[in-house]
Amino acid sequence: MERIRCNKCKIEMTPDIIYTHFPRGKLPVRGYRCEKCGYEMIPLEEAKRVQDEAEILGLYGAPNPLTGRNVTRSGNNLSVYIPKEYEKKLDLKKGTPIRMWLQGDTICIEPEKT
Ligand SMILES: [Zn+2]
Repeated sequence: MERIRCNKCKIEMTPDIIYTHFPRGKLPVRGYRCEKCGYEMIPLEEAKRVQDEAEILGLYGAPNPLTGRNVTRSGNNLSVYIPKEYEKKLDLKKGTPIRMWLQGDTICIEPEKT
């Protein structure tokens, strides 16, 4: 790793694992820490890599969530109504096959590509 100096203290920074926080979690990155003032530095390419990873893992959370909705019951099962807007946008019909999975505590649904 290259040698990097703290802008303030002018001493060499120590390579360290730094946790980058996102709205829905945190990820470790290889960065540098100043032993004297605690300043943390993450190289640009590492910052970019971790942002891409967070995007893939959904750590930024929902960008534009619908709120004020509730789970309902249909027979023995719990169900959620799909908003008309989503129905149109994704061209969903009764019987459209979907895939569903859990991402942490989030339920994800996507139409199966045919
Ligand atoms: Zn420093």
